[in-house]
This record gives sequence, C-alpha cells and structure tokens, in this order.
Amino acid sequence: MKLPSEIRVDRGARLLTLRWPDGDERTIGHAQLRESCPCAECRRRRLAGDEVRAAEGVSVTDLQSMGYGMQIVFSDGHARGIYPWTYLAQLA
Ligand SMILES: [Zn+2]
Repeated sequence: MKLPSEIRVDRGARLLTLRWPDGDERTIGHAQLRESCPCAECRRRRLAGDEVRAAEGVSVTDLQSMGYGMQIVFSDGHARGIYPWTYLAQLA
C-alpha cells in the first residue's frame, strides 16, 4: 500500500496536503474531508440519501496515523472517521 511521505495541515487555508512517494502532491479542503467522512454514522447518512454537510469554517485540529490510514479530528468535534490512505488518494 502506498503511504504518503509527507502530510501537511494548513489550518489558515483549511487545506490538507499529501505528498506521495512518487512526488505527486495533492491538496484536499478540510470541508471536503469532513463531508467525505467514512465513519459508520456518516456513511449511513449518505446511504440514506442525506448529505453530510460541513459546518462553516470547519477545520482539521488533529491527525492520528493508524497504519492503514489516519483518524482526523475536526473542529466541530467529529473524530470518528478513519480515512484509509487509498480513500484519501481518491479524494484528492
Ligand atoms: Zn463521520
């Protein structure tokens, strides 16, 4: 599995930047990350046809590497999503 060689969080611009081993660098907005949360609760809402809406100005406050991906903690208190690296690569 491909792991990012560098992870940067810009809280001012609310961007997450992932650099991959091949040098490819991709940026994802924090709101997009929040709305794409892969936790069971958010997945269930999307399956039910509801959108998961990010609160205005939501940002990433913490990251925990989990081996196969990373847990992302958001400023709205939501911290249940563990984003696999492959999923992050698709989002960016
Ligand atoms: Zn979620």
